[in-house]
Formats: sequence, C-alpha cells, structure tokens
Amino acid sequence: MTVSKPLQPGTLFVIVAPSGAGKSTLVNALLSKDSNIQLSISYTTRGPREGEVNGLSYHFITVDDFLERQNNQEFIESAEVHGNYYGTSKSWINQALANGRDVLLEIDWQGAQQVRMHFPNMIGIFILPPSLTALQERLHKRGTDSEAVITRRLLAAGGEMAHAPEFEYVIINENLDSALNQLSCIVAAARLRFNQQFSRQPDLFYDLGIHAKAN
Ligand code: GDP
Ligand code: ADP
Ligand code: 5GP
Repeated sequence: MTVSKPLQPGTLFVIVAPSGAGKSTLVNALLSKDSNIQLSISYTTRGPREGEVNGLSYHFITVDDFLERQNNQEFIESAEVHGNYYGTSKSWINQALANGRDVLLEIDWQGAQQVRMHFPNMIGIFILPPSLTALQERLHKRGTDSEAVITRRLLAAGGEMAHAPEFEYVIINENLDSALNQLSCIVAAARLRFNQQFSRQPDLFYDLGIHAKAN
C-alpha cells in the first residue's frame, strides 16, 4: 500500500573554518563526488579573486545592493567578516530544502549561529588547520590575498576557532584525503538519521509497521 509522502526536508550542512583551513578545497572535492548536495552561493561585497566567477564562487555585489537586500530581508543570515559583508539567500535555501535536497553552506560562525535559530537540526561542521603555522603557510601558498589581508585573517583565526565547540563535528584538515573521507562519513551518517530514512522510503517503513516519530 502507498502512503502519502511526509515532508522531505533535506539535510542542511553548515561548514565553518578560519580562512585558509581548506574549507573551499574540501567542499569542492565533496561536491565533485557527491552530486546530491547543492552549495549555496553567498552574496558578498568582497571583490572577486583571480579565477572567481560571479554566480559560481559568489554573487559579487556592491555595498548599496547588499544593504538593500538585507533591508528587504532577502538573507537568512548575514555578517560582516574581515571587513566585507556576506549573506545567504533565504528563498534559495527554503526552496532547495523544500525540494528534499541536501544543502551546504560555507559561511562564518556568526552566520552559523543565525542559521541554527531557523534550522535547529542543521549539521554544523568546523574545519581546523593542523597548526597555526600550517594556516599561515596555506594562506601564503594560495596566493590570492595581499599581505595586509592575510595578516587580518590570521589575527581573526583565534577568535573564530573559539567557536568550534558550538559545532557537532570537527575535522582537522591535515591530510586532504583523510579530511575528505571524514567529511563524506559525516554526510553519509546524517542521511541515515531516522527522519531522513523515513522521509526517503515511507512505503517501506509503513509495510514494516514503523511509524513516524511523534515530534
Ligand atoms: P575564505 O575564508 O578564504 O574562504 O574566504 P572568503 O572571502 O570566501 O570568506 C570569508 C568569510 O566569510 C568566511 O568565514 C566565510 O565562511 C564567510 N562567508 C562566506 N559566505 C558567507 C555567507 O553567506 N554568510 C556568512 N555569514 N558568512 C559567509
Ligand atoms: P579556505 O576556503 O578555508 O579559506 P582553501 O580551501 O582556499 O581554504 O585552502 C587554502 C589553501 O590551502 C589552498 O591553497 C589549498 O590548496 C591548501 N590546502 C587545503 N587543504 C590542504 C591540506 N590538507 N594540505 C595542504 N594544503 C591544503
Ligand atoms: P573569503 O572572503 O575568503 O571568500 O571568505 C571569508 C569568510 O567569509 C570565510 O570564513 C567564509 O566562510 C565567510 N563567508 C563566505 N560567505 C559567507 C556568507 O554568505 N555568510 C557568512 N556569514 N559568511 C560567509
């Protein structure tokens, strides 16, 4: 017998890390091997780095445009990070989750706190570097930012990492393959939670006599 499908809220993953910890590298590697996750493209007032494409890396907008969108409550969260504004589209996220998609946000800790107020079941993942020296080396090696910008980001790293205890999971990005494997394990485990499994296969659960959770 077929039962009507319950709401299919996809899983919301929120990834936070100090600049240079390898967040974008890990996220891009995950997305290229898992086509079921969609990355939210943030709005930012930061200028594009070499190689960054508008609409793919970020929606690059002016401060005036940002403030107008913020005023119109188009963002589910927004924050000032390292002197630039960043925000996440409310309508995009709501639509993706309503369609049962898994969604990934690559945002800062302030934004993560705001998102958790709307989605208490989100899965928060904090990426740590193996050392402060490695963080510094990676920011230099990436070669995308000026000395002044790198210094500003390194100075902010300690304050950002102090928020790691607010997250469900921590990955130490020392070896990239291991870190990617750990990230994939977290995603796989999140998809095996009762509500996610039940939403995916309500008919099987019904046939086996298993009912939805009361809450
Ligand atoms: P990165 O730290 O080297 O990846 O540099 P970025 O300039 O790409 O990001 C700067 C900071 O802004 C990081 O902490 C991001 O996680 C954060 N960030 C990016 N997009 C968003 C967003 O939509 N909302 C919030 N709150 N933070 C964001
Ligand atoms: P974030 O998005 O957190 O600012 P990136 O993904 O841009 O960080 O990574 C910063 C730099 O460190 C990049 O040059 C990237 O190639 C490098 N990197 C990322 N992960 C590792 C790793 N496990 N070992 C060595 N270098 C890494
Ligand atoms: P970058 O300028 O190096 O791309 O990002 C700097 C920081 O801003 C990173 O920590 C990044 O995660 C964060 N960030 C990027 N997009 C957003 C966003 O939409 N919201 C928030 N809160 N932070 C963001």
